[in-house]
Amino acid sequence: MVNPSAGGRGLLVACLVASCGHPDAPQGNAHEDGKRTDAAVEPPLETVAKAVSPASPSAAFEGDAIARELEILDASNAESPTDFLLDLPGSAGLSIDGAADVVPKGAMSVGTPQHGRLHQGIALPPNPALYTRRHPSRSYGSTQTIRTIQTAMTTLRKTKGIRTEVLIGDISLPGGGPISPHVSHQSGRDIDIRLVLAAGLDRSTIPVQADQVDWNATWQLVHSFLETGRVTYVFLSHSRQELLHAAALRAGIHPKVVDRWFQWPQRGASPGIIRHEDGHRAHVHIRLGCAPGEPQCSGL
Ligand SMILES: [Zn+2]
Repeated sequence: MVNPSAGGRGLLVACLVASCGHPDAPQGNAHEDGKRTDAAVEPPLETVAKAVSPASPSAAFEGDAIARELEILDASNAESPTDFLLDLPGSAGLSIDGAADVVPKGAMSVGTPQHGRLHQGIALPPNPALYTRRHPSRSYGSTQTIRTIQTAMTTLRKTKGIRTEVLIGDISLPGGGPISPHVSHQSGRDIDIRLVLAAGLDRSTIPVQADQVDWNATWQLVHSFLETGRVTYVFLSHSRQELLHAAALRAGIHPKVVDRWFQWPQRGASPGIIRHEDGHRAHVHIRLGCAPGEPQCSGL
C-alpha cells in the first residue's frame, strides 16, 4: 500500500517511469484508471505463454510481456565461453576509472531510453572470463555503460568469487534507436541480463521457474552493478523480488539498506531502484543514469 502522504512523489515516479514508457513494457503501461495491472497475482508463466486468445486486455498485455521475455532470452545462438580465450587487459580494474584504459571515450547516450539514439556506440567486447553475449550486434552501449559492465562483472568474478556464466542480452544497436521487441534500449544505457542459473541446468535454459535461479549469485550480480553508483533502475517482476530480497539479507546487507533498494513488498509506483515491470521473471533489466559529459542524454 502506498503511503498517501507520499502520493505526490509516487505519482511523479509513476509518470516518469510510465510516460517515459518503461523498458520492455509497451507504451500505455500507465493504466487509465491510475492503477497498474501489476497489482494482480501473476499467473504461471507457462500457462500464459501458451494462451492463444487471452480473455481480457490485461491478460493479452501480460501474455505479450512474457512472450517477449522468452524471445529476448533465447540463447540458442549465444556465444560460448569456449569460443574465446580473451581476458582483456584492464578488465581486472575494480572501478569505472580503471576500465577507462580499455573502453574508449566518446560513446554517448542521446535522448531518452524510449526515444533516443547512441552516438559512436561501443561494442561490448568479448570477454568470456566475465560474461557471454547473447547477440553481439545488439550489445552496443555508451562509454559509461560498457565501463560499468566491465567493472561490475570484474567485481562479481574477482571480489565476490561467482564463477557461474552470466548471459548478457540486449543493450542497444550500434547507433541505438528502435530495437524490437523493446520499447526502450534505444540510447545505450539499458542492459538485459539473464538471472544466474542454478547448478546443473543446461546453459541455454531460460529460468522462468524460481527454482531454476541461483538467487545468491543473482544478488551478487545485481549488487555488483548497484555498487557502481550508476544504476537508476533494476526491473524485476514482483514475484521474484521477494527471493532476491531474501538473498540480499542472507548476504549480510543491512535491512535498512535493503529496504531502500527494493520496492518489495510494495509494488506499483512505490519507490525503490529494484522495481516491478511485467515480463521480468527470468532476467533483470538494468538501467543506468545519464553520465557526466552526455549533454543530450535525458530521462530516468
Ligand atoms: Zn530490457
